[in-house]
Order: sequence, then structure tokens, then C-alpha cells
Amino acid sequence: MTRLQGRVAVITGAGSGIGLATARRFAEEGARVVAVDISADAGEATAKEVGGIFKVLDVTDEAGTRDMFAEVVAELGSLDIVFNNAGISPPDDDSILDTGLDAWERVQKVNLTSVFLGCKYALPYMIEQGKGSIINTASFVALMGAATSQISYSASKGGVLSMTRELGVQFARQGVRVNALCPGPVNTPLLKELFASDPERAARRLIHVPLGRFAEPSEIAAAVAFLASDDSSFMTANTFVVDGGITGAYVTPL
Ligand code: NAD
Repeated sequence: MTRLQGRVAVITGAGSGIGLATARRFAEEGARVVAVDISADAGEATAKEVGGIFKVLDVTDEAGTRDMFAEVVAELGSLDIVFNNAGISPPDDDSILDTGLDAWERVQKVNLTSVFLGCKYALPYMIEQGKGSIINTASFVALMGAATSQISYSASKGGVLSMTRELGVQFARQGVRVNALCPGPVNTPLLKELFASDPERAARRLIHVPLGRFAEPSEIAAAVAFLASDDSSFMTANTFVVDGGITGAYVTPL
């Protein structure tokens, strides 16, 4: 498939996990990938692998985000797709009873404020072009409560959902689509490591997944490519759930 032929696609957090898988998928579909990451090694490796370009950026940096989009448009001539995907889930973001204000604020900045900035500074280019697709990574935990709390993470992803909905509505008639993606748990290196050292923790979560396994990053990337492409041309302000059935389930198969 070459649904993204020639389109300029910025991916934040492209150095690892879902961002890396999406960079691969976008490139396979013909996009010109701009890999953005705070980690120069990881981001550069992604850009090299997919024949794209790398921009080092901390997505919480307002001036840096504004300048990155300006550079992309100056260098590549357009801005067609933005995947605001960079996010963190640090261990000190836990139960509300144990989580300090510093952890709360750090997670809000990286997971939510960054999406505000990524949309704020991408939208003017897309509005001018009369076309564009923005995909913001939320999570299934924006839709469901978990007894295994990561309080700031869940709240930040809820914020991503409502912000995305509002932007999708506001800019619909200017040709810009804005959708949120809600992945279920994904088999990323971090999750693999965590669950290898604590199988009970994995089992506690797996029981709730009707499909009986975690997602592979490439399965999430396939959904992002759909939202980025014109195949989803009648979708905006949407909450796109890719969760192996978790949010639809009451009793799961044995
Ligand atoms: P990951 O840790 O594998 O990759 C995240 C990337 O973002 C890394 O390359 C990291 O260097 C980069 N990054 C972190 N902070 C940054 C910053 N301030 N500026 C720029 N880059 C930064 O993560 P992942 O599992 O692929 O998750 C990607 C997104 O998907 C996140 O928003 C996460 O919350 C969301 N998500 C993940 C899962 C899951 O199970 N993995 C489930 C639902 C949603």
C-alpha cells in the first residue's frame, strides 16, 4: 500500500515502541518521515532505518516545538501528518496517595502539554494547506479506571481525548482531521521487562484482554496509518480504540 506517498509525517517519540513501529509503517506506505525524539541515539537510528530525517526535541519545549515544525516545512515543503505520540509512565506516578506533585506535573507536561504544543504549532500549516491529519496518542486508561493506578498518566490521557475531540470539531471545515488513538497494553521493551520480572503483574492484566495477549507495536502502527491516510477521510474528533476488546468486555474467555 502506498496511501501516504510523498506525505510529510512528523512522529514524536519515534525512537522506540509505537513511534518506531509507526515510522516503519509510514515509510513503507511512502511517507517522508520526520523522526522526533528527546533521545538522539534512538531517534537518529529510526530516521536512518526508514530513510527519514531526525529532529532532536523535548516535546515539552514550546519554542523548540514551534521551530521544529517551521524547519520541517522549510526543508520538506509541507506538513501533512503529525503523530503526537511521545509519552512517559514513570514508576513514581502511582496511587494518588503516594504520588507527589513533581511526578504529577512531569507526566502532565510530557503526556498532555506536549500534545497541546504539537497541535498548536502544527495546525496553522495544515489550515493554510487546507488539509492535514493529526493523531494524538491517548490510551484505553482514558476510558476505564484501573485499581493499579497511575493517576497522572490516566488523567493526562483523559485530557488528550477531550482536547483532541474539541480540535477535531473546531477545524473540521478547514480540512484538518484530528483523532485520538487509544491503544490497549502494547508489547514494548519496557512492558516486556516489567512483566518478565513480575509474571503475576502480567497475569493480572492479561485476564482482562479478550484476545488473550498484548498488542504488538506494528498492530498499533497499522491503526495510525489508517488514521493518517485518506482511508479515514470521514473520521475526525474520534476516539479510535485498538485494545484487543478490553473496553468491550465484562467476562472474558477462559
Ligand atoms: P516508549 O517508551 O517505547 O517510547 C517513547 C519514546 O518517546 C521514546 O523513544 C522516548 O525517548 C520518547 N520521549 C519520551 N519523553 C520525551 C520527550 N519529553 N520529548 C521527546 N521524546 C520523548 O513508549 P511506547 O510504549 O511506544 O508509548 C508511546 C505512546 O503510547 C505513549 O504516549 C504512551 O503513553 C502510549 N501508550 C502506550 C501503551 C503501551 O502499553 N506501551 C498503551 C497505551 C498508550
